[in-house]
Amino acid sequence: MLGVCVTCGVQFGGPAERCPVCEDPRQYVPVSGQQWTTLEALRRDHRNVLRDEAGLTGIGTEPKFAIGQRALLVPWGGSNLLWDCVTLLDDDTAAAVEARGGLRAIAISHPHYYSAMVEWAHRFGCPVLLHEADREWIMRPDDAIELWSGDTRELGDGLTLVRCGGHFAGGTVLHRADGTLLAGDIVQVIPDRTHVSFMYSYPNYIPLPEAEIRGILAALEPFDYERILGAWWGTVIPGDGRAIVERSAQRYISAINGEMPARTG
Ligand SMILES: [Zn+2]
Ligand SMILES: [Zn+2]
Repeated sequence: MLGVCVTCGVQFGGPAERCPVCEDPRQYVPVSGQQWTTLEALRRDHRNVLRDEAGLTGIGTEPKFAIGQRALLVPWGGSNLLWDCVTLLDDDTAAAVEARGGLRAIAISHPHYYSAMVEWAHRFGCPVLLHEADREWIMRPDDAIELWSGDTRELGDGLTLVRCGGHFAGGTVLHRADGTLLAGDIVQVIPDRTHVSFMYSYPNYIPLPEAEIRGILAALEPFDYERILGAWWGTVIPGDGRAIVERSAQRYISAINGEMPARTG
């Protein structure tokens, strides 16, 4: 039985005592110490819920496990692309995904959501598309993993993977030609939906330098989008996405250079 880190949800391909993903400054090892589980154990006391999220099907685990992100099924070529991933995969989930057309590929924004991607890939006989700049964070190497390089990868049917960097060197978002940006936490949807944010580490509150924010803006510059879907249930910006990203980046750059945002209320 392969080990799964309880804190980040990443499944390991062999014996491990420590989790490099959690020992990285972007994550954390809990004060109670490193803890492990298995997919088999997770299947006993967790389940996945599939429900609509801004017109797509979201897949999330209950009760919350690890980082708590939900994945999204994105219609693609008569089947689907799974955008981001969750650790739990069971028979009910697989049947529900098959009923919606199955998977042609999995693409993941960054290593915090690598989860049990290889289990999903094997179950659906499909590849996992990851940016090569994050290859060191692959804890279960497998032939199903296909590394891509460069700034963008066109998938067809109006889907494009865009490498933004920032949170991770290979940090990727998915652009859909219908005007949707699937952002993971590379572009973070925040409580005030008039803005987004960006961080090197979310749990440890480590910001990004100006050059990285400008890099994200440059990567997104060629793309039009209205809606932004973040990594958790309900993190949806319904419109004006591009302008929101641009003004948020300016606000962020001003703040890290000492100019705090003006009061709005
Ligand atoms: Zn971990
Ligand atoms: Zn993350």
